[in-house]
Amino acid sequence: MSQTGGSQLPGARAVVEFTQQWAHALGEVGYLTWGAEEARARLAPMAAELAELVRAPLLDEEWSRQLGAHFASAWFRGPNVLRATLRVIRTHGTQLFDPAAPDRIIELTGEFAAGYAEGLRECIQREQESLLRAVLHTSRDAANALRASDKRFRTMFTDAGAGIALVALDGQLLEINPAMCRMFGTPRRGGAAAAARPMTDYVHPADAATLISDFRTLISGRRDNVHGEVRFVRPDGLVLWAHVTASLVRDDAGAPDYVIGVVEDVTERHNLRSRLRHQAYHDQLTRLPNRSLMAEQLGKACRDGSSVARVGLCHLNLDGFRAINDSLGHQVGDQLLLAVAGRLQLLAGEHLVTRAGGDEFSVLVSDPPDVDYLSDLAERMIAVLRPPFVIGQQRLSITASLGITEAAVRDTRPDELQREAHAARSWAKGAGGGRWAMFDAERDAGETTRFALAASVPGAVDRGEFQLFYQPLVQLNSGELAGVEALVRWRHPEHGLLGPSRFIDLAERNGAIVPLGRWVLAEACRQATRWADELGAGAPYVSVNVAPRQLAEPGWLAEVSLVLEQTGLDPSRLQLEITERAVLVDESGTSDTLRALRDMGVRLVIDDFGTGYSSLSYLRRLPVHGLKIDGAFTRGLCEPDTGGPEHSGGWESTDSKIISALITLAHALDLVVTAEWVETATQARRLTALGCDLGQGNWFGDPVPARQLTPLLGRRLAG
Ligand code: C2E
Ligand code: MG
Ligand code: MG
Repeated sequence: MSQTGGSQLPGARAVVEFTQQWAHALGEVGYLTWGAEEARARLAPMAAELAELVRAPLLDEEWSRQLGAHFASAWFRGPNVLRATLRVIRTHGTQLFDPAAPDRIIELTGEFAAGYAEGLRECIQREQESLLRAVLHTSRDAANALRASDKRFRTMFTDAGAGIALVALDGQLLEINPAMCRMFGTPRRGGAAAAARPMTDYVHPADAATLISDFRTLISGRRDNVHGEVRFVRPDGLVLWAHVTASLVRDDAGAPDYVIGVVEDVTERHNLRSRLRHQAYHDQLTRLPNRSLMAEQLGKACRDGSSVARVGLCHLNLDGFRAINDSLGHQVGDQLLLAVAGRLQLLAGEHLVTRAGGDEFSVLVSDPPDVDYLSDLAERMIAVLRPPFVIGQQRLSITASLGITEAAVRDTRPDELQREAHAARSWAKGAGGGRWAMFDAERDAGETTRFALAASVPGAVDRGEFQLFYQPLVQLNSGELAGVEALVRWRHPEHGLLGPSRFIDLAERNGAIVPLGRWVLAEACRQATRWADELGAGAPYVSVNVAPRQLAEPGWLAEVSLVLEQTGLDPSRLQLEITERAVLVDESGTSDTLRALRDMGVRLVIDDFGTGYSSLSYLRRLPVHGLKIDGAFTRGLCEPDTGGPEHSGGWESTDSKIISALITLAHALDLVVTAEWVETATQARRLTALGCDLGQGNWFGDPVPARQLTPLLGRRLAG
C-alpha cells in the first residue's frame, strides 16, 4: 500500500482538515480508544491516501479496497465506525479533495467499504481462532476441563465478547455463554440451562441445511474446523447475521467429543453492506434502479443458461430538458424528473425502469411477445408523458425521444444492445424528437461506416488516397470555360470511389477536414499552375471549397498565402467557395480573414446561396466577389409554368422569379452570379436570358479528373 506524507502534498491543508473531521466523527459515534491527538496521527496517512485516490485520473479500485482493509486492521472498529467514516468521506470529500467528482467519491466509498468488510472479517477470524486455541488448550491441559469447570476455561467462556456455544455430537446445545445469550436477547445468563435445545432451533430455516451439512463434516472428523456466515432467528423474531467458526474437540483417544462454536454478530455490518449495495444500484433522486443495475440485469439476461430468450430495451431522454433546467432552475428540473420517473414506472408495470443519469431513462423488457409489443410500449410512453406536468406554479409540457431495440439473447451482448437503443434514440431525436425509432441494423451499418470513414481521413490524406475532380464553370453568354470547381473524391481501397457526401460533413465535425482541406487547396493550386503554364491567359481559374472549420483555423490565412507562393499561382486564378453558414458566424476574425484574402487578390464566392439565411444586404458588407445560386432553384426552371402567361413557353415559375430577382439584386451589388446544377439546354438558355453570368452542371460537363478536362480547355462548351 502506498503511503504518503500528507504534509508534503499539494492540498496538504485539505488533508489535515479532513483528518480532523474524520477523527471528530469517530469520536462522536463514541468510538476512539485513543486520545484525539493519537487518532489524528493514525488517520492522517490514510487521509492522504484517500486524497491521492480521489485525485487520480482513474479510480484505483484495488488500492481503495486495501485502504479499507487497512483501516479495519488498524483497530478502527466498532458498530458505527464505517458508517461514520463513509459519511465524512461523502460530505467532506468533495469539498476538501476538490476537484473530485461526486461520482468518484461514490465509487471510492463503495470499494473502501468492501475492503473494510473484508479486513474486518479477516481480523475477526484471526481473533476467533486464537480464542478457540485458548479454549482448546485449556480443555486439553486439564482433562475434561469442561465438565470439571476448569477455572481458566470458565473465565474465558463467561467473559468472552463473542458468543460461544458448546454443541454435543447429536446437535444438542450443551452450553451457551452470556455473550451468546445477549446476542439472542434471552434474559438468562447462559450456561447449560439456557441451552438444552437442538442448535437448529435458532438457525434461520434457509441456512439450516448448510449448517447441518457442515456440522456433519466436522463431527465425522474429516475436518477440524469450518466457518461461514449464518443467519439465526432470535426468540423475538429478529434475524441475526453471524459469522460462525466451529471447531471439533476430540477426546483423549482422539475421537470427536463435542464442538465449540464461536459466534460473532455481524448484523450491523451486513445491513450496512446491503445499504451500500442499494445505494450503488439506485439513483439518489428518483430512487429508481440506476445504470449499474440495468447493466447487471442485462448481463444476467444475456448470460448462458439465462431463463430469458429475448430482450427488448427502450432508451429515452427528454427533449429540451436542459432548457428547463437552465431557465427554471435545477429544483424544477429535479421535480420534473421525479414526476417523469413516476409516470414511466406506473406505465411499465413489471418491466425494469432505470434512470441512466441526467434526463435519460431505460426500460428493460424480458421476453417481449413480439416487436409490436415494444413499439406499442414506446407509443404508450410517449402518450403518458404528453399531459403537462404541474410543478409548483408551472405547467410544463415535455416530450421524449425513444429508441428501441430487440434481440435474441444468445445473439447479442449487453453493451451492444445498449448502443443500439442509444443509436435508435438519436435517430428519433434527429427526426425532431417526440417520437420513437426502432433500431435498424442496415441504417446503423451505414452510419458506423461513415464515422469510421471520417476518422480515417487524415491517414488517407497521408497515403494519397484523395483525388480532385474538376467541373467546368462556364461563361453563359459566350459558352467559354472561365474556371473549374475542384471537387474532392476518395479512392478508398475497400469502398471504391467515394463522393464528398460520404465523408465531408463528419470530417468537418471531427476536425479531419483541416488536413484534408489543406491538401485540396495545395493540389488545386498546383493543377491551376500547370494549366496556366500550358495555356497562358486562356487557363481557367480554380474554385476551391472551404469548410467553415478551416476558416476558423488560426493559421489558415497564412497557409493560403504560403501555398500561392510555393505554387507560384497568381492569386486571381484562385477562387474560394464559402458557405453562408461560415460567413454568418458573427466573428470579426472571419471577416478580417475574408478581407485579407480579397486584398491578396483571391476571389471569394458564397456557395449554395439561398439555402441559408443571409440576406443580400448582409452580403453587401462582406468582401465577396460573387454568389453561386443553389441548384434547387435552377431545378425549378424546368418546371411547367403555373401562371405566367406573359412568356412564351410558360416557364415563369416561382423559382425563376426568385432567380431573376436574385440576379438583379446581385448585379446591383456588383456580384457575379453562378447558377449550379444546370442540367438542360432549356435551363442554360433561360439563365442566360435572365442575365446570369456563369453556369455549372451536367449540361456543361460533369466533374472529371484533370487529365480528362485538359482537352476541353480553351474550347467553347455547350451554351
Ligand atoms: P458544391 O460545392 O455545391 O458542389 C457542387 C456539387 O453539385 C458537386 O457535388 C457536383 O458534383 C454537383 N453537381 C454538379 N453539377 C450538377 C448537376 O447538374 N446536377 C446535380 N444534381 N448536381 C450537380 P459533389 O462533388 O458531390 O460535392 C458535394 C459537396 O461537397 C460540394 O457541394 C461541396 O460542398 C462539398 N465538397 C466537395 N469537395 C470539397 C472540398 O474539397 N472541400 C470541402 N470543404 N467541401 C467539398
Ligand atoms: Mg462548391
Ligand atoms: Mg454549391
